[in-house]
Amino acid sequence: MKPHTVLVLVILTVATVGVAIFGQRTAYGYGSTLYAGEWLYSAQGQYLTSPNGIFRLLMQTDGNLVLYDGSWVLWHSGTYNVGPVLGVTMQTDGNLVIYSPSLTPLWHSNTHQPPPYTNYRLEAQSDGNVVIYTPASAPLWSTNTWVQEPYQSYLHLAYMHDTNAEDFCALIEDGSIGLNTAATRIRATLHQDDASHDWDGLAVNKVFFIAVSLTIPCNQLANRANIQIEYWVHSSGCGGVSCQWFTSPTISHNGRQDYLYAYVRFKTSHISGSTFLYHHVINHETGHILGLADPPYGDCKVSVMHSAHYGCTDREWPQSGDRVLVTDIANYARYDLLP
Ligand SMILES: [Zn+2]
Repeated sequence: MKPHTVLVLVILTVATVGVAIFGQRTAYGYGSTLYAGEWLYSAQGQYLTSPNGIFRLLMQTDGNLVLYDGSWVLWHSGTYNVGPVLGVTMQTDGNLVIYSPSLTPLWHSNTHQPPPYTNYRLEAQSDGNVVIYTPASAPLWSTNTWVQEPYQSYLHLAYMHDTNAEDFCALIEDGSIGLNTAATRIRATLHQDDASHDWDGLAVNKVFFIAVSLTIPCNQLANRANIQIEYWVHSSGCGGVSCQWFTSPTISHNGRQDYLYAYVRFKTSHISGSTFLYHHVINHETGHILGLADPPYGDCKVSVMHSAHYGCTDREWPQSGDRVLVTDIANYARYDLLP
């Protein structure tokens, strides 16, 4: 008889008398899966770890349930200031619930299912997502924190690995926007308009953008050879779209190629259009410079690298998964773990 079968039978007995559903395996909490009836207890700081060892879902002693990538918070339940917390349990009704010591529910995933009560499970996955599954492995809920490993490119800017700034400049090749307007929009998008979402400061400030000039074009700057990123503006962009490319390859790391210089060519209408549009396009092309790739067409996960051009919704800002991935690329944190 399988161990899970025993667990389900015990839980069914408890459930039929209308009592809150408990598991007794208090030592649990060091694998990647929380099965129905099991708990992660707050007092012991119990947690799940993804099979690849990168992600941790921790039931903290402060009552908050937090998903970490290293020290980076990907998701949390928000229960850090609600009084004492007993822990979190995966229930046989499919609901994931955080309870107080007196069994008052403080947070739940809102995924309770009709009977029969059965062995739902919570999995901390190697892609960074934490998911509630039915016994038939249908997902009911997730933290929506997948990390887009398949969408890493193998090209990025060498300067991301040190604490030198990523200097950039702008150049109007032709088109109707002024240099100062374009350069100001680029700077504001990278590190001013939305500090909680922009690229700046990632990897403990290894990713740090500085505008060399807002009024002098790249090709008139005496120190042009020292500038890592040039943003050019052209009326037709690159055949009707914006694009980017690299020059001067330096060392490679585990098959990933570093380059000294990166170039973007914006289509003028992309950077002179609505605020949302230029935020999106600037962030998307800069995402490429920082090592992110375009997705397969129609694969619409939450990322600034997905866009209407790929049959998806445009995102104005880099999403949490984008920022985590760029941080990892800059830190090499996940290089040796990639398949
Ligand atoms: Zn792209």
